[in-house]
Amino acid sequence: MKRTGILFLVSGPSGSGKSTLCRRLEGEGEAEFSVSCTTRDPREGEKHGSEYYFLSTDEFDRKVGAGEFLEFAEVHGNKYGTLRSEVIDRLLDGKDVVMDIDVQGAAQVRGCEDPAIQRALVDLFVMPPDERELAARLTGRGTDSEEVIALRLKNAIEEMAHWPEYRYRLLSATREEDYSRFKALLVAERLRVSRLDS
Ligand code: 5GP
Repeated sequence: MKRTGILFLVSGPSGSGKSTLCRRLEGEGEAEFSVSCTTRDPREGEKHGSEYYFLSTDEFDRKVGAGEFLEFAEVHGNKYGTLRSEVIDRLLDGKDVVMDIDVQGAAQVRGCEDPAIQRALVDLFVMPPDERELAARLTGRGTDSEEVIALRLKNAIEEMAHWPEYRYRLLSATREEDYSRFKALLVAERLRVSRLDS
């Protein structure tokens, strides 16, 4: 019996720990990561095709025009989008795909009429424990300027208001606890009868 893949959509503000969760899942071979396109500059150590496909605004807009994106949005002043090619074939091939996208992108995926996507979708919002811890995590990363951190904190607070739109919510505690609950959700979703082809 062939199983259709799961589209594990993960959102949450910067500093919630969602990227670490997604990457660990991928690292353990539990799911394939959907590499997004972005117009933001690479951070130190980030490589084209690994963390993101880093595109110029013109290249990004061309892909929008060609209908290559499953969803796209402007986040923190830059454009981000998920290529259909990162997701659809893998799902049909029975592979689980994990994606780290913002609340606007999540709303677009939820509204997508493609039955393969609707059947595959599991959406989760990762919440930081509280605002103070979130601010500490954003500052502690040391990868962004003060101005960028302030913008991300403001956006994070607005973004957190969207958690009720998701089917699942994970309130962040420790890295290990978070990961074990994160993976448990994926493992449970794999057992759904509705995912099995008859
Ligand atoms: P960062 O620049 O810190 O890597 O990501 C900033 C935000 O963009 C995060 O909230 C992340 O979830 C979101 N993001 C990353 N890729 C995509 C994407 O393909 N689509 C959308 N809508 N958001 C994305």
